[in-house]
Amino acid sequence: MKLTIRNYLLLLIGISILVFNLFFWYGMSQQQKKTAEVFDQNLRATLSEVAYLLSKDLKDPQQVAYFKAYLERIAATNDAIDALVLTQGSHVLLSTDPSVERVPKRDEVILISDRRLPDLSRVRAYEAEVRYFADTAPRYLRLYALLDKDYIHGRIQIDYSRLLLQLGLPPVLILLLLWWLLNRSLSRPLEALRQFAYYQSYTPRMFWLRELEAIRSSMLQTYQRLEKEKAELYKLSTTDSLSGLANRNSLDQRLSWLISDASRNKQEFAVFFLDLDNFKSVNDSQGHKIGDQLLVMVAEQLREVIRNSDIIARVGGDEFVFVLNSYHSHLELTRIADRVLERLSKPWVVEGYQLFISGSIGISLYPKDGSDSVTLLKNADIAMYQAKKRGRNQYAYFTEEVNREIQQEIQLSKEMRQGLEQGEFELHYQPQTDSFSGDIVGVEALVRWNHPSRGLVSPDRFIPLAERTGLIIELGNWILREALRQQVQWRDEEHVDLAMSINISAMQFHDDHFEKRLDQALEESGADAERVHLEITESLLMQHAELYLDRLQRIHRRGLRFSLDDFGTGYSSLAYLKTFPIDVLKIDRMFIRDYDTVSGAIFLETIVKMAHTLQLEVICEGVETAEQLDYLVRIGCEHYQGYYCSRPLPAGEFLSFLRKQRLRVVEN
Ligand code: C2E
Ligand code: CA
Ligand code: CA
Repeated sequence: MKLTIRNYLLLLIGISILVFNLFFWYGMSQQQKKTAEVFDQNLRATLSEVAYLLSKDLKDPQQVAYFKAYLERIAATNDAIDALVLTQGSHVLLSTDPSVERVPKRDEVILISDRRLPDLSRVRAYEAEVRYFADTAPRYLRLYALLDKDYIHGRIQIDYSRLLLQLGLPPVLILLLLWWLLNRSLSRPLEALRQFAYYQSYTPRMFWLRELEAIRSSMLQTYQRLEKEKAELYKLSTTDSLSGLANRNSLDQRLSWLISDASRNKQEFAVFFLDLDNFKSVNDSQGHKIGDQLLVMVAEQLREVIRNSDIIARVGGDEFVFVLNSYHSHLELTRIADRVLERLSKPWVVEGYQLFISGSIGISLYPKDGSDSVTLLKNADIAMYQAKKRGRNQYAYFTEEVNREIQQEIQLSKEMRQGLEQGEFELHYQPQTDSFSGDIVGVEALVRWNHPSRGLVSPDRFIPLAERTGLIIELGNWILREALRQQVQWRDEEHVDLAMSINISAMQFHDDHFEKRLDQALEESGADAERVHLEITESLLMQHAELYLDRLQRIHRRGLRFSLDDFGTGYSSLAYLKTFPIDVLKIDRMFIRDYDTVSGAIFLETIVKMAHTLQLEVICEGVETAEQLDYLVRIGCEHYQGYYCSRPLPAGEFLSFLRKQRLRVVEN
């Protein structure tokens, strides 16, 4: 058995109670002996005095009766004596108690001449010799003091049951109480302290005993201090002490988290490696103190400029790394790099000195340029050197391909802006035709870019770019005005009244000035709102639907109509057909291609039926053959658009095509 504090305390208390009891027992027995001695001496004295008196006054055994009263008085006054008996041989001469008729036995008697202390519980009587002279010859009688056993016992003997109650119970109670107290104030707190020291899971409350409380509070202080120091150490190990940005350690750690995240979600992210171009010369000319201050300011600005970065780290003297993971295009990354470079090349004022620096940025992309942090950083570093080689204050992507792609995009968007100013854009028109009569009832305006050197650029190439750069807002506005102008010119000058469908991109529609611009365009052109169809996509409706529902409804109330473009390629949810003010469904051109397969046919038929049930008009896009048109007629799809009727044509050509077509229809 292990000796616990609790058991140890129990043992100590047990032993002390035992020792206490032993002493008590010893004291009691000593006391008992002393009382016995007193009785003994008293009996001996009394008996020897009586014996002496008798010896002196007695002359004749016949006279003993004269002493009866005397003996009776002695017996009555001494509580320990039951009776006094005078005997001669085996004959009782005189007894103060008439019931005593015989002489006590030898072994019940103690002679007073025998000086030993007798065992009073055994002895029945004390015996003394009475010697008197009758006729000068000595005669012997025996005087006995019969003891009052009950009385003597009462005085000498111990009452065990009472003693047990008085001596045994209180210690047991005391033991229990002590045990409980010590347990509460000592063993339990100590155990709590042990647990606290070991796990620190919960902090014990104040202790009652001073020393324990002192231990507890010093332990508490120690742990709190350790915690704080641990946190500080962690911070120290993960942050750069000068700039307060993350350091290399934490960059590695966070990059690997990001990588595992991105690989799970199949996401791309970009690592920027920034090196200040002429920081060394600042350091050399102005000293380290100014250099350090400049670095701190640069770090601050970086934090400001690239707020959407998860990680900004300083990894070397004048080298910084930041990681961007929520961007829409590489062009956006490019803009961020530009913003950083622009901010860096503005003059810095440190302690009154004006300093000029610039930066070079290398960009690597996960996963294309590396799937681990080491490779990504290395490649961003390499890209940074390329940027430096190209003449500083630049950025470069790691792969040539990305560099080229970006450069082209930048070039293209620059040219697009110029092209817009110089009127390189034009609209082509594709007829929207009545499936049953062959009548052209409307046109869709489709933008074209007549690039001076590249030739005709497809909208698939430049519309997404215009959306990424935001140029779509201007371009879209131009398209809107141009289409309406054309519609009105045909109406007023050529007496050709056609519904005009205009494509509106999401960004353009979401722009705050869209409604105002639309109004202006309508007013300026004098177009009939009822004859204008805006082609919007499902994705436009899906983004912040609640926010733009009002706008849709206001425009709709003005008389314009909405066509849902490319229907079937997106979410194709019926819910928003009811929620939003849609008038026309444009079935995407991929569906008519499959009209002769079972699933294709089912889809087309279902859409057409559904649209009619919802009282929507239907246009089928991409009709290229007579068979496809026949099929549409069979399923009751009232309008179509496609090469079968005509490709999109420049305005002039469109007009002559329309005239010919009408003639043909009339002839038929
Ligand atoms: P969209 O709105 O779906 O336009 C229809 C596209 O289908 C046009 O391509 C048109 O030339 C093509 N198309 C018409 N009939 C047929 C056919 O029978 N067969 C095939 N294979 N194609 C046919 P386009 O003009 O190259 O335009 C492409 C996309 O660019 C448009 O798709 C639209 O999303 C966008 N876009 C064109 N013009 C504008 C515009 O003015 N503003 C905006 N925001 N986007 C435009
Ligand atoms: Ca369209
Ligand atoms: Ca379409």
